[in-house]
Amino acid sequence: MTSENTLWLQPLADVRLTSIGKSADGLVISLETDSLPCICTNCQSPNTVRYGRMALRVRDLAFDGTRIDLDIKRARMRCNACLKTFNEPVPGVSERHRATERMVALAAKMVLSDSFLSVAKQLCLDEKTVRAIFNERLPILRTISRPHNPADVMLWLPIIQGKLRAAWVNSGEGTLIRMDADTSAATLGEAVRELTGHGSELLYLPPVPEIIEAIAEATPLQIRLHGASLRAACRKQIQLFSTVKPVSDYLERLRLFVVAETPDDAARQWQTLPEPPLQMRSAMQPLLQSVQLLGPTCFDEMQITDSPGDLQMAQIESLLSSRFGRRSYEVMLAVMLYDKRLFQTRRTPVQAPGAQLAMGYQKTNFGTSLAKLVARLTALPEEPRIERKAIVPSR
Ligand SMILES: [Zn+2]
Repeated sequence: MTSENTLWLQPLADVRLTSIGKSADGLVISLETDSLPCICTNCQSPNTVRYGRMALRVRDLAFDGTRIDLDIKRARMRCNACLKTFNEPVPGVSERHRATERMVALAAKMVLSDSFLSVAKQLCLDEKTVRAIFNERLPILRTISRPHNPADVMLWLPIIQGKLRAAWVNSGEGTLIRMDADTSAATLGEAVRELTGHGSELLYLPPVPEIIEAIAEATPLQIRLHGASLRAACRKQIQLFSTVKPVSDYLERLRLFVVAETPDDAARQWQTLPEPPLQMRSAMQPLLQSVQLLGPTCFDEMQITDSPGDLQMAQIESLLSSRFGRRSYEVMLAVMLYDKRLFQTRRTPVQAPGAQLAMGYQKTNFGTSLAKLVARLTALPEEPRIERKAIVPSR
């Protein structure tokens, strides 16, 4: 037998199979504990006695599309020390979710690529249970999947569910390494302090004066203007005002900046831009002010062509709103940052002496690959979704 069709036949630890029956919508597998002496869950005293038996009903992994309920007879116990009564604990069972731990683990993994409702249907669970599993899992994911911090970090400001978010990108690797729910000065300050503490040195920022000011105040990191963001903002203006005749000369000059081929050329084109015409003044103001804040050297290291990552970020933003708009921000965050299957990892030499692994290499996580994220989001079907056959976990 393969592991797929023995899944639930691998019984839980410390329980015996007593019978298998049919229910209206699946199978009920009856199990019984051996009710070995156990310590009190309240005061840890070993002085406990059995006090009758109680059945616990939990959902287990579906088998070939069939819903499986486990009916586990276990002891009701009483503690002679504190006189409290309690249920005998059953290993491998999550009492909170009324499901086996393997079921909880599978649901937690599936919500990273599927909606709560669809996961609930596939696993024969309540949608409420799936949501509760996700909420419980999120803080754990947050602490275990911290990616490597690069020397150069770029701040990307996607609009997700109508709100500006701060996403931090390793542009060298084309990966997302962190995301914050808002762009307040406090949030940005905390993020850059953490980036600095983990070895980042240079920060590329979009042309948003308030954000440049907030970050410059909070960090000793060197700051540069992110070329692709400034060009994208200029292109947007060119498009918006393309039919406004009186500004056509100005747009022509702006176009020369957008297509500049070297950082020197870009700097020259920007510095020789005339005053924006009245119609465009408020739209151009933040861009001009951003360059002014960062000084003339902000063009020095400007990437003059857009990278594949710049394109992917735009795609992700649009996919998130079209394919994923009905999920909560927390779900989006989990998918974007905590799904191991989207991580970009590579073997890198171990730097620190004494920390060497067997082969002198370690596996480094560079964060979520933007390319893999685009592929994942593109593959998502439109909601609402069709019902699918129950699945078993892949190994
Ligand atoms: Zn006790």
